[in-house]
Amino acid sequence: MHIETLLRTIKKNYPKADLKLVRKAYSFAENLHKGQKRATGEEFIEHPMEVAKILAEHSLDLPTIIAGLLHDTIEDTQTSYDVIKNEFGEEIAQLVEGVTKISKLKITDWETRNAENVRKMIMASTKDIRVIFIRLADKLHNIRTINAFREEKRKRIAQAIIDVYAPIAYKLGISSIKNELENLAFEQLNPGEFNKLKRKVKKSIKQHEKEIEELKSELLPILQKEKIKIYKIFGRTKTIYSLYKKIQRKNCKFEDIFDLMALRIIAKSVKECYEIIGIIHNLWKPLPHRFKDFIAMPKSNMYQSLHTTVMVKGQPIEIQVRTEEMDKIAEDGIAAHWQYKGIFGAQEFDAKLSWLKQILEWQKELRDSKEFMEMLQVDFFEDEIHVFTPKGEVISLPKGSCVLDFAYAVHTNVGSTCTGARVNAKFVPLRTELKNGNQVEIITSKNQKPSREWLKFVKTPKARTKIKQIIREIEKIPVKSYSQKIVCKKEGASSIIDVIGVKDPEINLAKCCGPLPGDEIVAFATSTGKVAVHKKGCFNIKKLKEGKRKDEVEVTWIDAADAIVEIKVEMKNRVGIFSEILNSIVATKTQIKSTSAKSISNTMMRCGFSIEAKGLTHIRDIIRRIKKIKDVNKVFIGSLEK
Ligand code: MN
Repeated sequence: MHIETLLRTIKKNYPKADLKLVRKAYSFAENLHKGQKRATGEEFIEHPMEVAKILAEHSLDLPTIIAGLLHDTIEDTQTSYDVIKNEFGEEIAQLVEGVTKISKLKITDWETRNAENVRKMIMASTKDIRVIFIRLADKLHNIRTINAFREEKRKRIAQAIIDVYAPIAYKLGISSIKNELENLAFEQLNPGEFNKLKRKVKKSIKQHEKEIEELKSELLPILQKEKIKIYKIFGRTKTIYSLYKKIQRKNCKFEDIFDLMALRIIAKSVKECYEIIGIIHNLWKPLPHRFKDFIAMPKSNMYQSLHTTVMVKGQPIEIQVRTEEMDKIAEDGIAAHWQYKGIFGAQEFDAKLSWLKQILEWQKELRDSKEFMEMLQVDFFEDEIHVFTPKGEVISLPKGSCVLDFAYAVHTNVGSTCTGARVNAKFVPLRTELKNGNQVEIITSKNQKPSREWLKFVKTPKARTKIKQIIREIEKIPVKSYSQKIVCKKEGASSIIDVIGVKDPEINLAKCCGPLPGDEIVAFATSTGKVAVHKKGCFNIKKLKEGKRKDEVEVTWIDAADAIVEIKVEMKNRVGIFSEILNSIVATKTQIKSTSAKSISNTMMRCGFSIEAKGLTHIRDIIRRIKKIKDVNKVFIGSLEK
């Protein structure tokens, strides 16, 4: 590339830019890299020049472009931070230092080194987020020219792009860079699938283009009549990689993807965006649940647009409407935003920064670099769901998040004392996966404590790190006799019923009569080795005795001090009843291990509360309290955990 090519690109975005410093940086870098060759055989300086050009094309400012030119000088040549600072000032020197990777000699294991480099980059980015853009441009040029490397190295670089860099680009809203990174990396990782899809797209694209053109020619005169000016209108095609992901996610065939091409309309103003959608819905029938208003509710990466899918001649077609500014931000993310609003002080900028700072806070908890990378991937996960607090506030979570993730997203204390939730007015347990649009009301209890069990189902890094942190704190508390019980429990808590002569029986308390502690009981072993316990007078006993294969076994209640018992409650589904029951249990200073709830009819529901019972009197006390609650129909003991 000739230096003038780079300068022309910069001029396009910054017509008044003083390019002296760019020229100086170019000579400086060229001089230092002299004699160095890229794996492709070209002069090394080609690489930083291309990186600088990518940065210029994606709306980055002059200091970032200059740092792009210099980005490999500290790492790969004899120069130092101080020299760059003297020549180009502190701002640029800091950016270059920020992209300088940690010494290859320090860590030899590739995976650890990669993780440590990402960690360092994120750290540097919290001081200046532009560091990330330079690294992304660097990765982009590397993968564009990756064929010079042997296969193993190519795959390794491509994998890191898919795992870390493309998701970072997504998070910052730079979809143009994200898309190209993903496509090129995917081509390396799965060339067979990539080429197959590419061929299919090529084959069917003509038909889609025709449909889009027809739609355009039908729509434009009507918009004109309504005096709505349009800035641009065009078809946009899904990228190969997002196509591949969608096919995977939906578990469908290429032929089933109807939004391979969408119509994108760039309008003059927000008001007109809505007007256009109104006109479109008037002309064609919209598919239900496909209208999405990302203008009123932007995605967390600032993406704004209106989406709808309408039926045109029996064919669903997606239409996206947004303003020019929104479109630019959808392409270049935060960098485009800076161009519109100025670089620092913007609210969104602070939001991005706090996201990075949060990652840093979490990573303090993670000693292992592999764990750090895993955590990043969860948080980077592209698919998000939006759920609502009872007050209507929106909380964004990665897809697959559960009630507990939501609770931790609200506040650490809410998470740590969460015992369940009402989702769309239905009671659900902690591990319930949330869906887009759910309204979630968390139920907490003072007596609740995080448990290791929780780590098995939480999804978000915040929940995970907080749970771990609190468990560590709990475990640090000096050992009293209390802790003895925990150890004992881990090895298997005792049961409140002893079956004589049967080792480790699975005990079921019969639903027909619901025996409670103190009741006289009889029990029968079934052929599957389970033991069913009934009240002495239960009407079913007679039947059982007449049946062939029921063996009566001897059982007694035992006053175990540490049994886990599930109390089942059948009750009317009315507002507040769940927490009334919870409170009545908590009032007896009982540790609740888990809760469950399901509807058994339109008006009735059955809930389960697994508790740590401190003896039979304790259980009787809890049952007595629950029975007193209005609208409770039936209380009995469910399963006995072994
Ligand atoms: Mn580089």
